Parts: sequence; C-alpha cells; structure tokens
Amino acid sequence: MISNNKYDYIICGGGASGLLLSSALISDSFFDDKKILIIEKEAKVDNDKTLGFWDSKETILDEVVFKEWEYAEFKDSEFHNSFLLNPFKYKMIKSSKFYSHLGEKISDADNFTYLNANIENIDQENKIVKTDNGEFQSSIIFSSIYDDKEIKFNKYPLLKQHFIGWTIETKDQSFDDNKITFMDFSVDQKNEIRFMYILPFSKNKALVEYTLFSSSVIDDE
Ligand SMILES: Cc1cc2nc3c(=O)[nH]c(=O)nc-3n(C[C@H](O)[C@H](O)[C@H](O)COP(=O)(O)OP(=O)(O)OC[C@H]3O[C@@H](n4cnc5c(N)ncnc54)[C@H](O)[C@@H]3O)c2cc1C
Repeated sequence: MISNNKYDYIICGGGASGLLLSSALISDSFFDDKKILIIEKEAKVDNDKTLGFWDSKETILDEVVFKEWEYAEFKDSEFHNSFLLNPFKYKMIKSSKFYSHLGEKISDADNFTYLNANIENIDQENKIVKTDNGEFQSSIIFSSIYDDKEIKFNKYPLLKQHFIGWTIETKDQSFDDNKITFMDFSVDQKNEIRFMYILPFSKNKALVEYTLFSSSVIDDE
C-alpha cells in the first residue's frame, strides 16, 4: 500500500495509451518535479499482441522494433498496387517488449510510482481513484480503461475490430521480406469488412493475419 495518496497526475491503465503518455511525461522536463501515479491491473509480461505502426523518424520505440518494412502492397478483387512507403516505414513491435521497455523507463523515473492494482472506481468529480490497494487523489486523472457498458450507440451499430493470426514457415522462399501486404480485401467479405495482412519476417516466415470489423466476434474455428 502506498502511504501518501496525493499525486499531481494519475494515469489509469498501463496499456498502449498509459505507457506512451507516461513516456511523453518522462521526456518533458516540465514534469520532473510532478508526482505521477500509474495504475495497471495486469502483470503486462505476456506477448498478447503485435503492434504495428507508421513512422518517418526515429523514436524511443526504435530500440524494440522487431521488424520494419519499406514497401507495402494493397489490393482488392479488382485493384492492386505496390508502393514505396518513403518517408514512412511500417514497424512492428512485440507487445511484451513494448511493455518492458516503457516499464523500465517508468521504474527509472524518480517522480513515477507504478502500482499493480485493480481500479474499482474513478470519481472525476471528487478526483479520487479507488482501487483494491487503496484510494488515491489527483486533480488530473487520465483514464484509458474501456467500459463498453458506458458506450451507447443508438444511431449507429457498434462494430468490433478483431484479429486472428498465424506465424507460418514455408519450404520455398515465398515472401519479399521488405514488403508487407497491407490490407488484402480480395478475401470473401461475407457482407462485412474483412481483410488479410501478411507481415514477412524473412523470405520463408511470415505473420498472416485475418482482420474483421463485425458486430460480434466470430468463433476461432
Ligand atoms: C491482436 C491485436 C493486434 C493489434 N494490432 C495493432 C496494430 O498492429 N497496430 C495498432 O496500432 N494497434 C493494434 N491493436 C490495437 C491496440 O492494441 C489498441 O489500439 C491499443 O492497445 C489501445 O490502447 P489503450 O491504451 O486504449 O488500451 P489497452 O492497451 O488495452 O490499455 C488499457 C489498459 O487498462 C488496463 N485496465 C483495464 N481495466 C482496468 C482496471 N479496472 N484496473 C486497472 N487497469 C485496468 C488493461 O489491463 C490495459 O492494460 C491491436 C490489438 C489487438 C487485440
């Protein structure tokens, strides 16, 4: 339990948003004398997802980039284009590396406290965050905790983006390892929005990912 429970900023959720926000605050000297608490319920050690992103310059994430590509391919059943992404590159990070890399920066920062706890309530009016490991106060509370009970879509249906992927190895040299297949819509759309990604790690190894936008998540099978 942390005894002094008052902070200048509290960050609720240590996923992509919470960690990137923390990293931005650490790199800005304005926050050096501010007391900051980040609260996350999970251990964040598993490689639970693959994070891909566009970038035209070096960032702190480059140290943990697993693979990057300079070319991309886009297609549907009638259209096909391969192009150089310059000045951008498409970069991929394994989420376990992302969590540990930014987690180390947070533990090295004297003004940051990382708390592993479950947030039970965020009272934005009274500026209190209640967890199963104590209550904390701050005039500024950021939250990236998603609560689908609070999201109401009356006018439009709620679409879920979901993925399933396999890392495959081929006997032959089947892939151009400097080119991603970024959105191949030539697969059966089944009255929804469906596409494939191919992210080659080498000439005979690639992550093949099936992505869908639909109102319900389909069975793995
Ligand atoms: C399989 C997969 C592949 C993806 N690939 C890409 C990609 O290639 N490129 C891309 O840009 N995006 C990708 N995404 C999307 C990306 O992961 C999300 O956009 C991103 O994680 C959202 O960040 P966030 O901080 O909002 O949420 P999260 O990263 O989910 O962070 C929210 C955090 O809040 C914590 N939390 C929740 N409830 C509580 C609570 N009660 N108490 C304490 N902590 C709590 C959660 O444990 C979590 O760590 C992918 C997602 C998945 C699932």
